[in-house]
Amino acid sequence: MLAGRRPEWTGIEGHPSGVVSPAVWRASTHLYPDMAALRAGHAFNEDGRFYYGRRGAPTQWALSEALTQLEPEAAGTVLYPSGVAAIAGVLLAVLKPGDVLLMTDNAYEPSRNLARGILADIGVETRWFDPCDLASFKAALCPKARAVLLESPGSLTMEVCDVPALAAMAREHGMVSILDNTWAGPTGFAALRHGVDITLLALTKHAGGHSDVMMGSAAAGPEWFDRLRRHSQMLGTVVSPDDAALVLRGLRTMGLRLERSAATGLRIAQWLEQRADVAKVLCPMLAGSPGHELWQRDFTGGCGLFSFVFKGGTGAARDAFIDALQLFGIGYSWGGFESLATPLDPARVRTASAWPFAGMDSADVFGVRLAIGLEDAGDLIADLEQAFTIWAQAAV
Ligand SMILES: *Cc1c(COP(=O)(O)O)cnc(C)c1O
Repeated sequence: MLAGRRPEWTGIEGHPSGVVSPAVWRASTHLYPDMAALRAGHAFNEDGRFYYGRRGAPTQWALSEALTQLEPEAAGTVLYPSGVAAIAGVLLAVLKPGDVLLMTDNAYEPSRNLARGILADIGVETRWFDPCDLASFKAALCPKARAVLLESPGSLTMEVCDVPALAAMAREHGMVSILDNTWAGPTGFAALRHGVDITLLALTKHAGGHSDVMMGSAAAGPEWFDRLRRHSQMLGTVVSPDDAALVLRGLRTMGLRLERSAATGLRIAQWLEQRADVAKVLCPMLAGSPGHELWQRDFTGGCGLFSFVFKGGTGAARDAFIDALQLFGIGYSWGGFESLATPLDPARVRTASAWPFAGMDSADVFGVRLAIGLEDAGDLIADLEQAFTIWAQAAV
């Protein structure tokens, strides 16, 4: 597969050779040879046709094409300036005033904010359901339910949903199913093939891979792709060609990076699981972790993002643990080459379902989310080990 490296985007017509990666085509105006061509241009709206900068140029088209080729059954991919812009763009393309949106209770916090903010303002009601309980989804259904937003695994608490079952139920009820598939990405979970209508990615994470660019995407089959594309054009959400070139470059090594960070992540998850000071490791790739069976059934890959919960301790001890880490940065996002740690306080975000781990009151749960990068696994484990010592001193 050319994955966006079309000869007309990597070379000059009439010359047999070219470059490896598509050039950065910076453009607002696209030129037409004559008036007839300018008028004829209105009849088409597709990648690969010059029109005007807001519809992109070869650099953005190349990235869209590469992403579409990675996503089985996709008719096309729309790019957005961030992952959140992709979520917002898709929901606004799908929902109208009076509709009800169902959202999984483990959804990314900005998705919840969007529901409580802009969507509420335009008269869309959101109902949350338990990500691990199909009955909870059924209970939230109503005649006005128009769409469901899934996130699997949830990017904080890591539960895996039964996406094929939820997508099928949504379809039966005439609803659109939307999946935030940022964790596994298209190579780890073939969302459309599992029945999802629209699949979203924060390209900021694995595709970008170097913590220096923000972007999002939405891929869909023919029934939704054209609407998403037209909506994004109406909203004017074009991405810069420089950013598209960075993401395209990241995409070329994404498979290798994911393999490495998933393998290191699993090794660290197994190490954590053995520790007496760890109550629970929340990592779908780990046997015994919530959602592991569904991950095994449906996924072809994972990544290095997972969480764990301390046995006892305090919020201050957890903070001391994170402060003690030397190799892990303290910061949001993930999917970069460098490891990160952030606090996990699930009680703060959930509304429709209990913290899913029996015997633990969520108010007393202090955890850490780790985003494992490409460093040496032994070095990361040694760093965590010394931070546990600090935690133990702070926890007494
Ligand atoms: C980071 C993230 C997003 C948002 O991506 P941005 O590019 O930061 O806006 C959306 N969904 C998930 C699951 C994420 O982790």
